[in-house]
Amino acid sequence: MATTPPSRPGFPVRLTPTASAATRGRQPSVPMRPLVSATPSMASDAIRARMVQRLAAQGVADARVLRAMGAVERHRFVDSALVNQAYEDTSLPIGLGQTISKPNVVARMIELLLAAPALAGKPNDRLGRVLEIGTGCGYQATVLSHVASEVYSIERLRGLHERARTNIRPFRLATLHLLLGDGMVGYAKGAPYAGIIAAAGGEAVPEAWIEQLAVGGRIVAPTHSAAGGQALVVIDKTVTGLQRRILEAVHFVPLKSGIA
Ligand code: SAH
Repeated sequence: MATTPPSRPGFPVRLTPTASAATRGRQPSVPMRPLVSATPSMASDAIRARMVQRLAAQGVADARVLRAMGAVERHRFVDSALVNQAYEDTSLPIGLGQTISKPNVVARMIELLLAAPALAGKPNDRLGRVLEIGTGCGYQATVLSHVASEVYSIERLRGLHERARTNIRPFRLATLHLLLGDGMVGYAKGAPYAGIIAAAGGEAVPEAWIEQLAVGGRIVAPTHSAAGGQALVVIDKTVTGLQRRILEAVHFVPLKSGIA
């Protein structure tokens, strides 16, 4: 039986001109031109493809990341007043004083996550279970769900947790789990994780994240740097112990404890 896909809010159904019995062989009075080129979804496909080209030019090389960034409609995660800026390389406010990260920061961090020791030499494989700290609007969590088998994403602000729920609902992602909680303690029930990624920066990487990381797994997180700002830190858990690297300077909202 043919089923009609559910239409998403604000997501025009594609109109393909098919001649009905009544119009077949006759010139229709209204020209039956396909409307697809005029729909926002098609327009956003082209804009998103340009964003992906820009990411590649900026040095993002992992095909899995580029595919995921091309697939997820970032404009669905930002306020309607900011939709026009959704594909620019900029962070944007998402309410409650928080921000959605720049596309190139999201892509860079996920590319680092996919370079975890367990995936070395496997450029086409998905990550296993991933924990994200700081769901925000749910954008990065959705991108992650394209490159990992299971994603657990924690948010401490109830308002944003609810908003992210609403944002991801149309995508019907059975492998993405949004949790309200304090991500400083991780989420032991989903452990061990192949990757842990934080979208908020603290003093140091909490011990709980290291405990909940699988051997062969990787943490990518912003932390306070010696210079007084923030820097990305990468921690790999290997059979012989932890390997820590400090990378470039970044600017993330602070990692805070407790739920609000
Ligand atoms: N990845 C997000 C970016 C969100 S900004 C996106 O794609 O939109 C970072 C988020 O981390 C904020 O929403 C903030 O409330 C949250 N956060 C800060 N400390 C946290 C903690 N301890 N546990 C869970 N979330 C936290």
